[in-house]
Amino acid sequence: MDEQTRTALHAKYVIPAAYRLLGDRRLRLVAALMERDSWTREQARAHQAGRLEWLFDIAARHNPYWSAEFQKHGLNPRGSDPFAELAKLPVLTKDEVRANWRQMRSMHLPDFATILDTSSGSTGMPITVHHSRTYRELHAAMMYRVRAWMGLRTGEPILTVRADSGHMTLKKKLLRAMRKRVERETLIDAFRLNPATLKRRLARISADGPAAIFGYVTAVATIARLSRQHDISWPSVRAVATSSEPLREADRALLCETFGARVFDRYGSREVLSISMECDHGSHHIFADCNVVEFEPVPGSTGLHHVVVTPLDNDAMPMFRYRNGDTASAVAGACACGRTSPLMTACEGRVCNNFVTRDGRLVHGVYFAFFFNYCELFRSFQFRQTSHENIDLLVVPEGRYGPDHEAFLERCRRRIREDYNGAFQVHTRIVDEIPRTQTGKHLYTISDVLRNV
Ligand SMILES: [Zn+2]
Repeated sequence: MDEQTRTALHAKYVIPAAYRLLGDRRLRLVAALMERDSWTREQARAHQAGRLEWLFDIAARHNPYWSAEFQKHGLNPRGSDPFAELAKLPVLTKDEVRANWRQMRSMHLPDFATILDTSSGSTGMPITVHHSRTYRELHAAMMYRVRAWMGLRTGEPILTVRADSGHMTLKKKLLRAMRKRVERETLIDAFRLNPATLKRRLARISADGPAAIFGYVTAVATIARLSRQHDISWPSVRAVATSSEPLREADRALLCETFGARVFDRYGSREVLSISMECDHGSHHIFADCNVVEFEPVPGSTGLHHVVVTPLDNDAMPMFRYRNGDTASAVAGACACGRTSPLMTACEGRVCNNFVTRDGRLVHGVYFAFFFNYCELFRSFQFRQTSHENIDLLVVPEGRYGPDHEAFLERCRRRIREDYNGAFQVHTRIVDEIPRTQTGKHLYTISDVLRNV
């Protein structure tokens, strides 16, 4: 049987039958989600208004935290303009969620209809959230929309590189193994990217002919580097989807070239699932049918904005105007792809991926990371601001550390001194490996000073 027939049969029979058996409703949501891509801005806005009214009503009647907040700020759940009502609420900070997550759980849903999850805590204290099962199913259905944007057909095999959580019950493990078979997904654990064992496995996976690769930026980049090192080619791959970490231009170029594929950057988080995605014209579209997204200027910065998001489908724990700690900005205009959903920049990272001077000036993390663009002397690096004045620069040299490496680092240090009038002292440390966050993410820039902002 050729691959095309196999894909078609899989999409037509195997996937629907399996999800019917599992009582999983994701497929029923897919068609409605796809249709939203042809909506006008007015249609999307009317949909947002309807969802806000629905959430306000549930929150006012069934949510201890939000019913009190509505009273405090004079929000009328049946007000004629739901956007104006939403604007009455102050921004919801992570600290408030940490302190109140129990009261933020709506009481109308039984326990089996909700899922408790914890954000990574990769850059601060973790956040606990409740998701409704329906919200999770919607997100699962969103993955079909994502694949359609990437030009993939349902039923095509894919490779995923992400953290494979070890803390799972047997039932959960079995279910996941089954879903992987249904979706024809091969998974590489981003925690265990061991070059010695991966080489043979990569050659095998490549021979299986995956149509696309999904994963963390640095994890997929590691796969790309290993593939180049061992002459493993990926002729079947047509698209790569990256997420969870800011995508640097150098990594995008590496992925495009190694896989001979277009790269689609996606943005979401553990708390708020699908926020935006890049289309085939390179614009980041906000999934405005799933979220109301606002951009709030970061004090002390020039042009940086906090992402403030209201997810529209999670009635288990509404989060109105949630400042998620990321920075990005709105982009004006329309995209040539024809989708009318509003545009934003790619997520520029978390607030704590930027640095701050003693006198309160914010310095974009990309300024520091930029030094290493297209630099082949180092395999990896991390700038870590440990106090207002001190930055540790951790580097993993490619090959043996020598005068070239030293000269390069001295140029970086001098440039940073000049650009910021000595506000930062950079101390270099040569290491074997850069420590990753709990969820296996690599951070190029991290400020301990801004960690819990
Ligand atoms: Zn577009």
